[in-house]
Amino acid sequence: MKTVSQHLINGRFVDSHGQDTVDVHNPATGALIGRSILGDEVDTERAIAAAKAAFPAWSATTLEERKRYLQRIADALTERMDELVAMTVAEYGAPAFFAGYMNGQARDFFLLAQDVLKADNFEERYGNATVTKVPLGVAGLITPWNGNPWFIAGKTASALAAGCTVVVKPSELSTLQTQILMECFEKADLPPGVINVVNGIGPVVGNTITHSSDVQKISFTGSTKVGKQIIRDATDTMKRVTLELGGKSPTIVLDDADMDKAIQFALTAGLLNTGQACIAGTRILVPESRLEEAKTAIRTGIEALAIGDPQAPDTVIQPMVSQGHYERVQSYIRKGIEEGAEILVGGEGKPEGYEAGNYVKPTVFVGVTNDMAIAQEEIFGPVLSVITYRDDEEAVAIANDVAYGLHAYVYGVNKERARAVADRILAGRVMINEIVDDPTRPFGGFKMSGLGREFGIHGLDAYLETRTVFAG
Ligand code: NAD
Repeated sequence: MKTVSQHLINGRFVDSHGQDTVDVHNPATGALIGRSILGDEVDTERAIAAAKAAFPAWSATTLEERKRYLQRIADALTERMDELVAMTVAEYGAPAFFAGYMNGQARDFFLLAQDVLKADNFEERYGNATVTKVPLGVAGLITPWNGNPWFIAGKTASALAAGCTVVVKPSELSTLQTQILMECFEKADLPPGVINVVNGIGPVVGNTITHSSDVQKISFTGSTKVGKQIIRDATDTMKRVTLELGGKSPTIVLDDADMDKAIQFALTAGLLNTGQACIAGTRILVPESRLEEAKTAIRTGIEALAIGDPQAPDTVIQPMVSQGHYERVQSYIRKGIEEGAEILVGGEGKPEGYEAGNYVKPTVFVGVTNDMAIAQEEIFGPVLSVITYRDDEEAVAIANDVAYGLHAYVYGVNKERARAVADRILAGRVMINEIVDDPTRPFGGFKMSGLGREFGIHGLDAYLETRTVFAG
């Protein structure tokens, strides 16, 4: 396994035009595990030029040809799956079970994209009018660190299926995982320039992509702050933009719920990826009359969580991806205390015995009001807020009283009532009584959580433009 990353430009692995590199540390131990190269504007322009040159031939391939290439990428990923999982554990600190699940799904995106590809997605006739969907051109794909191969795979599979060529800008915190993915792309032997990957930081590599007049589409997953910058930057060239941004998702525990089961559900939703998940249910809404029961169930639930070595099979709680992110999460724990919320479990500092890694104690605040920063801002760590409500009306109002609208969870016995609550939540996805992951159904956010949808036919459409021809 390589421990120094490269770029993939025009079908070849290349080093940077400049000399910048950055050390990569294992977040669980602090050990140095490799080096990332940081590309610059020259590397990025080369990748864009290669993608532009490859576009006419790639967009002219048949659906069957594209399916064969997608299958080859899936096969290459299957061959390298164990290495990709091991690197995800080492570089990101993801527990082994979760790294396996996430990367298995990354491979599956290339299978699912084949199922979506049908001729009638591209052409429909209405009398003398033919409506044709055509690939947009070069797509710039910019991804975050919390499951970087998963995001690259999801976006790349849809873009290639649509007939676009791509320039990927992976998170600078995930380049060793990206390296394995690039080697799979290379193994699949696509025509040079169809997939290009440039490592580097957002304000350099990402910024060059978003400003380029040779890039027609940006698909970005990351923070709302950077998402706003990207949509501004893309305006000059009127790029099509898909934005998958932050979240502050509610879990509404209805008053007919079995509290132990409800809290187990809420903690699973809240601590997905140890809270480093855009869809984490970080605000737990419980009926005022059942708060004491909820508190007891939370204490028990948190005590049962295994923190530790991401390689151990039972580990659930992982370290934060970086020292910087650890500090950010700690600052929110301090802020919660300053705002007057009360710590039910957890608190500042590292759990005993885990001082070498970026571990945060799973922390749950009670006495939280929805106007506090800990209830409004995305923390992206294992820090949850319990907020009480009096009736369903108030629960929905609190759930919606936030800038984000990515996801929500509802837990209760009466299914019709739970559904009625779910239907009033302003979020792109709501899960009632189950946490499922179905990458064939549309995914994306309301409000400040984003723009557009990914997955399945919606994901394909995001890389297509529509032309109507009237034949007289
Ligand atoms: P981030 O916004 O800091 O960075 C995301 C990517 O954007 C990185 O590759 C980064 O290098 C790049 N970037 C930064 N500045 C840029 C610029 N000026 N121009 C172009 N690119 C730039 O996010 P992150 O810390 O990597 O990831 C965590 C965030 O991602 C959280 O807010 C989380 O909610 C969000 N997220 C959203 C989803 C979703 O599907 N909605 C999924 C995962 C993560």
